[in-house]
Amino acid sequence: MKITKESPKKNIIELTENCKRCGHCCSYGGCYVLDEETDRIAEFLKLDKDSLKEKYLEETYLFNKKAYKTQIISNDLPYGKCIFLNEKDCLLQEVKPLHCKIGICSEHGNDTLEWYFLNYFVDPDDPESIRQWALRLEHKDTIPGGSLKELIPDKERLKKILSYEIVKKDIDWDEVTGLGKLKREILEEEKKRKSKWKEKRGFT
Ligand code: SF4
Ligand code: SF4
Repeated sequence: MKITKESPKKNIIELTENCKRCGHCCSYGGCYVLDEETDRIAEFLKLDKDSLKEKYLEETYLFNKKAYKTQIISNDLPYGKCIFLNEKDCLLQEVKPLHCKIGICSEHGNDTLEWYFLNYFVDPDDPESIRQWALRLEHKDTIPGGSLKELIPDKERLKKILSYEIVKKDIDWDEVTGLGKLKREILEEEKKRKSKWKEKRGFT
């Protein structure tokens, strides 16, 4: 199977589910944990999210997106084993982060890692994310769907992003200020009001 950015998650997991649980990869570094994965991990460990982050995770950024990494037990070395590795097995087996399920050591490992970065970190709406991805592509091939021209088909926009003429992510101030929600609520009210009006007059 050819892995592309659009490959469904289910297919990626199926392709890589022959992990032998040897613990090798977990002995030389932790893994990324997506923000959306922290709830179920915290629940599994019977912790609240803040305690999970404080005790077991560290905050990091990847392609300008906030994420977490599992802490490592390093004994002052620059690498070490993941804090969740118990002997050879993972204490989070039932709720393992997606990063640990994509078979990095498998024959598909290179491509599945690209798929993971592209689907969970690289953000075409964020110029800084694209610039960081562009730097990576200078020394690394990627999968179909992950090239710069596929991510940003507008050549002029891509040029401006790479030359820092577009610096920041376009911000939807309506959403930031909460005005967007208010507008949607007003529209919803208006719709209901109109439909009641029609109903009363037998127009429906
Ligand atoms: S992903 Fe590979 S290296 Fe890591 S535990 Fe599984 S078989 Fe071992
Ligand atoms: S969370 Fe589990 S599978 Fe992932 S790196 Fe840590 S020990 Fe390994």
